[in-house]
Amino acid sequence: AKEIGRNNLQVFTEEMAARAHEKLQWQEELREAIAREELLLHFQPQMSLESGRIFAAEALLRWKHPVRGIISPATFIPLAEETGLIVPIGDWVLRAACRQLKAWQEAGLPPLIVSANVSARQFREGNWAERVAAILEETGLEARYLELELTESLIMQDVSGAIATMHELEAIGVHLAIDDFGTGYSSLSALKRFPVRRLKIDRSFVADIPSDGDDIAITSAIISLAQKLGLRVIAEGVETQAQVEFLQKAGCDEIQGYFFSRPLPAHEFESLLRQAGCD
Ligand code: C2E
Ligand code: CA
Ligand code: CA
Ligand code: CA
Repeated sequence: AKEIGRNNLQVFTEEMAARAHEKLQWQEELREAIAREELLLHFQPQMSLESGRIFAAEALLRWKHPVRGIISPATFIPLAEETGLIVPIGDWVLRAACRQLKAWQEAGLPPLIVSANVSARQFREGNWAERVAAILEETGLEARYLELELTESLIMQDVSGAIATMHELEAIGVHLAIDDFGTGYSSLSALKRFPVRRLKIDRSFVADIPSDGDDIAITSAIISLAQKLGLRVIAEGVETQAQVEFLQKAGCDEIQGYFFSRPLPAHEFESLLRQAGCD
């Protein structure tokens, strides 16, 4: 039995070493991904339920790996956060999103908002608001066209620090949204102090509408909370006509999800915009 145990241990440590090695390799590749221009953005439209028009695009990061193909952010964002690579990657995302929006504006497309995701590590970097301002300056995009999506858990890690940074961003003219709303546990009294414009109802609540009574109750409660606080509210992960109808009746302002469109490469998003027509 002892022999077997030793063999197992050996296999185990070999496996761990292999895994550690693989992780290091990923880390190196990710580090080089920016310089090699392997990162790109897809854009998913956000639609107003009132006007039926696209009013914004969420920028979603993709990694076009030379061997492994397109890699989802869910796979590499955690590694990027762990290693701190999220800071340069986050700057890249912001710059690329602002630059793309500016290019669409100059091409005469309707004036959209672009929203970008922000990770906790990025947000906590010193002088982050100044860096956002520098990127806006560099790309020539007016601040009011940029929205930053902060998760509840990011904010709740350090509420007063987050509020201070949020006020700095607000002062620049950038708008803020709370992403994945309902999954964290921001207290209602804290919510009142956040200078945000929009709540994004997490897709886990939207998924089982209209069959799940609890999800219906939670979603309706978030919508009426947003209305009472004077915030806009958007539902993410909207996939079906039945969900759209429910959300419309419940008074949700906006939707995002496969029902309307998947996240698209920039040129496809641009064709969609042209088809949808300009005001
Ligand atoms: P998220 O911010 O909650 O983004 C929404 C995710 O839901 C996206 O996944 C989008 O493709 C997906 N989605 C949109 N509509 C539907 C739908 O109708 N049904 C379903 N099942 N899914 C839908 P994606 O692009 O794989 O991104 C995953 C997560 O990675 C994002 O979740 C966000 O947390 C993170 N992420 C993406 N880009 C960035 C980035 O530039 N920076 C940071 N820090 N995180 C990012
Ligand atoms: Ca988001
Ligand atoms: Ca989300
Ligand atoms: Ca999410």
